[in-house]
Amino acid sequence: MTYRIALLPGDGIGPEVTNAAVKIIDLVTSKFNIDISYETYDIGGICYEKHGTPLIEETLDGCYNSDAVFLGAVGGYEWENLPHHLKPEAALLKLREKLELFANIRPAKVYSSMLDNSSLKREVLDGTDFIVLRELTGGIYFGKPRGIEDSRGFNTMVYRTEEVERIARKAFEIALKRDKVVTSVDKANVLEVSQFWRNVVEKVHKDYPKIKLNHMYVDNAAMQIVRDPKQFDVILTSNIFGDIISDISGMITGSLGMLPSASIGNKYTLYEPVHGSAPDIAGQKKANPIAAISSISMMFEHSFDMQKASEIIEKAITKALSDGFRTADIATEGCKIVTTDEFTDIIAENMERIFTDEAIGVFLL
Ligand code: NAD
Repeated sequence: MTYRIALLPGDGIGPEVTNAAVKIIDLVTSKFNIDISYETYDIGGICYEKHGTPLIEETLDGCYNSDAVFLGAVGGYEWENLPHHLKPEAALLKLREKLELFANIRPAKVYSSMLDNSSLKREVLDGTDFIVLRELTGGIYFGKPRGIEDSRGFNTMVYRTEEVERIARKAFEIALKRDKVVTSVDKANVLEVSQFWRNVVEKVHKDYPKIKLNHMYVDNAAMQIVRDPKQFDVILTSNIFGDIISDISGMITGSLGMLPSASIGNKYTLYEPVHGSAPDIAGQKKANPIAAISSISMMFEHSFDMQKASEIIEKAITKALSDGFRTADIATEGCKIVTTDEFTDIIAENMERIFTDEAIGVFLL
């Protein structure tokens, strides 16, 4: 089996964390009997400098011809005053639209050695491991009519059957590989569009009898995530509710440098760290590579169906953290501060050890 990955390093720390991602891809390729090839394409500010536009056809074609896309990050001070359509961030929005990425996955998983980095108490957080699946291309962010008039501003929250069906199906499929519980978050007590969402989710649920389906109003969900996050497995929700819920969920478990994400379409999937290009630390070897490496772990799980590789990457990250290694953004008292490359090498060495231990049937972690 051959897999093709399109790498889009982008700007700022984007190329630095992409290097970390590549190291991990190479290691998995060498240990498993698979063939993975990758090509690098321009996007964002660097693409604008070379080609006068932040997204070129060659990059899009590279993505269309790939099995998975990895994006580092785009943006930087030097491009802030460009017209909107030439800004690096415009490339990202266009890419999501062109690849028809209708769902966004953000895991909210806590590493035990990072429990004290959260604003929540360790006993509330310990054991938290859920994902938020957010609808990405519909709902109130895209609904029409929309506009501003002299004495009013308005937007339209609308969902069509097929939009809800495809994301509900995705949620149930993901839950089948996890604890088999889906919580659909809406506002059906007030909004007709939410009642419609709920009806469609229930219809799709009939095809997944092994999954337990709960419904929760969004205000209650926001409260429950900070009160008792362990109760969740897969949260399924619309674009606007997911925008808020996924940020709350991400931040209770760690810092920006540790949050991975995947955006899914019918044909393509884009993996990217949640963070931006961090121009304030670019080129200083300070970037935390965990968000990028975890995004690669998601790639192995969701795009290549290689659960084992994904588990090994996650175990290697867990061990690096519990051994006290940290980049500056997550430094705690008594930790060993390391650079981006050093952290990546430590994670890679842990992976090597796990591969060896697994080969002789011993699991030390
Ligand atoms: P940012 O995520 O780049 O940085 C916010 C803060 O977090 C900074 O202090 C940064 O140093 C720190 N940080 C982020 N990632 C880190 C990592 N891996 N390791 C250590 N520290 C990390 O957000 P911002 O400062 O608001 O935006 C900077 C640029 O990035 C802007 O041009 C913005 O438009 C762009 N941006 C791009 C994306 C993307 O490409 N997906 C997402 C968000 C922002």
